[in-house]
Amino acid sequence: MALFGSDNKTKNSLDGLWIKCNNCGEIIYKKEVEKNLRVCPKCNYHFRLSSREWIDILMDQNSFHELWPDVESIDPLDFKDRTRYRDKLKEAQKQTGIKDAVVTGYGLINELFVYTGIFDFNFMGGSMGSVVGEKIARLIETATAAQSNLLIVTSSGGARMQEGIFSLMQMAKTNAALSKLNRSRTLYIVLLTDPTTGGVAASFASIADIIIAEPKALIGFAGPRVISDTIGQKLPDGFQRAEFLLEHGMIDMVIERTVIKKTIAQIIRLLGMTDKKTGQP
Ligand SMILES: [Zn+2]
Repeated sequence: MALFGSDNKTKNSLDGLWIKCNNCGEIIYKKEVEKNLRVCPKCNYHFRLSSREWIDILMDQNSFHELWPDVESIDPLDFKDRTRYRDKLKEAQKQTGIKDAVVTGYGLINELFVYTGIFDFNFMGGSMGSVVGEKIARLIETATAAQSNLLIVTSSGGARMQEGIFSLMQMAKTNAALSKLNRSRTLYIVLLTDPTTGGVAASFASIADIIIAEPKALIGFAGPRVISDTIGQKLPDGFQRAEFLLEHGMIDMVIERTVIKKTIAQIIRLLGMTDKKTGQP
C-alpha cells in the first residue's frame, strides 16, 4: 500500500514513474507493476491493495454496487489515547474516501453474481469495530436470505481497540450470522490477504466453505513473538505465512493474484449459484 496512490512519503525523486519493491528492493517501472496487478515482476511480492483496487481486479466493469456506504461509528466509549478516536476516524475517512474499514456490496465476477465485502488496510489497519462487524453481518444475512454467493476479502490487524468490548462482540455477531448461512445453500468464499490477524482471523475469516490466501500473506491470531514467548519455543521458518498454513491444512489454496478472478469464478461455477440474477436485490 505504501508505494501506491496518494502516499506522499513515496513521492520522491523517482517522480512516481518508478517504485521500490518492499520485498526484494528492486526498482521497477510502476506501469509494469500495475499491469501485473500490483505484483512485483522480480520476486512475486503481492503489494497490498485498497478496497477500490480490489473491486477493479475482481469485479466485472461497472458491475459493483455498494451497500450501506454511510454507516459510521459513533465512538461509544468516547475514547481517547494520544488523540481522540473520533478525530482518528475523521482523519482516516479523509485519507481513504470511505467511512470505515470495509466496503460491502454486490456485483459480478465473470458474469457470476456475488455479495462481497472487501477490507481496506489503509483505514486504521483494517481493524474491526462495530461498523465493520455490522456491515459484515448484514452482508452475510443478505447473501443467506438470497441464497446467493458470498466473497469476503480480508486484510486486518484485528479488533479495533478504541471500541473495547463493542469491537470484540463483532466476532460473535458475524459468526452467529454465519451459522445461519451454514444451514442455507449459500457458498461462502474468503480471500485472506496480507495481513489477516487478530479478531478477524479468529472469527468469520477462518470458517468459510473455501479459504483462499495470497502468496506469503501473514495469517494468524497473535503475533509470532507473543506465541514464542508464551510457549518458550522457537517457531519454525515461515510460521503464519500462507504456504505454511496450506501445508498444515488450515487453508484450502494459495492463489496468485493474476489468476484470482478466474479461480473464484471456477469455484462458484463448481459449488455456488450460477444464475446471474441470483440474489440480485
Ligand atoms: Zn520484488
